[in-house]
Amino acid sequence: MKSYQVVDFGKPLELREYDNPKPQGKEILVKISACGVCHSDLHLADGYFDLGEGKRITLADRGTKLPFTPGHEITGSVVAIGDDAEGVEIGDTGIVFPWIGCGKCEQCQKDNETLCEAPKYLGARLNGGYSDHIIVPDSKYLVSYGDMDPAMAAPYACSGLTAFSALKKIPETSSDDWIIVIGAGGVGINGVLLSSAVHKAKVLVIDKDKEKREKALEAGAAEAFSPEDSENIRNIIGIGAAAAIDFVGMPETTDLGLSLVKKGGMVVVVGLYGGSLKMSLPLIPMRSTILRGSYVGELRELKELVDIIKSGKVELIPVKKQDLETANQAMSDLRAGKVNGRIVLIPK
Ligand SMILES: [Zn+2]
Ligand SMILES: [Zn+2]
Repeated sequence: MKSYQVVDFGKPLELREYDNPKPQGKEILVKISACGVCHSDLHLADGYFDLGEGKRITLADRGTKLPFTPGHEITGSVVAIGDDAEGVEIGDTGIVFPWIGCGKCEQCQKDNETLCEAPKYLGARLNGGYSDHIIVPDSKYLVSYGDMDPAMAAPYACSGLTAFSALKKIPETSSDDWIIVIGAGGVGINGVLLSSAVHKAKVLVIDKDKEKREKALEAGAAEAFSPEDSENIRNIIGIGAAAAIDFVGMPETTDLGLSLVKKGGMVVVVGLYGGSLKMSLPLIPMRSTILRGSYVGELRELKELVDIIKSGKVELIPVKKQDLETANQAMSDLRAGKVNGRIVLIPK
């Protein structure tokens, strides 16, 4: 098994070779068909997230042990099965759900694995998809994508699921409502594409970049503005939007979202850009504002999302297939903002 691993935080990935692991108990061994390259892989390789005001949360503190294999947007086929694995056969294909909990705590029992305090996320705590094989702890985490191209299906494990789960957290909307999408990068565009599958509200996109605004309009946004265009935004949303999703996660973008939602409106923070927010506290009770976070999504949401993308009702995000050997280049291209759509690594 060839894996590209984080050997030292802040250093390029290194190629390491291992014997293929043998699945134990409920585990399955999956031969990887494709693995998307996600922004959070950069944070994982750097070894920290910026919390603002000089504070950092480090991967070492969160229990990540080196070396480890990043990558959590994985598709593949089953090549070996543990003795206790059920409902799975050699050759089964699927998207691997990576946001796996401890399986024992109250939240895991309620299938809220992203709320588990001791998660075992693939590509962060357990080895991920920058490899040709991966051990998946249970066959229930393999979600069949039917006859889709595995490279097209892979990004839905994170980029697609993150956008979908954020949309699902917003209470039901009507066709007169607005949902504001801040940041029209990969996840934000997924939010625009998937919005009509979840909500009746129209989508207004805010992004500094003209090209991204045009892409958002093509993806189905009703309006798209630069953040400086606040007068035009105000004129369109009237008393305020039902909700805003901040796909950037900077103080400026969350603040913008808070300023644009109506009373009782919700701001969902998704992006992990970093920093800290100063906010006027009286306005929270006076406007009954809901500020909440959303981190990736649950297994049940991935299943629902895969049904939607298999149905052909939503346009799929474009992918760029590259050989797994280009993993380091792919990460530096992503870091430099040179990537349109999703890079998907394909092992030989
Ligand atoms: Zn991701
Ligand atoms: Zn748990």
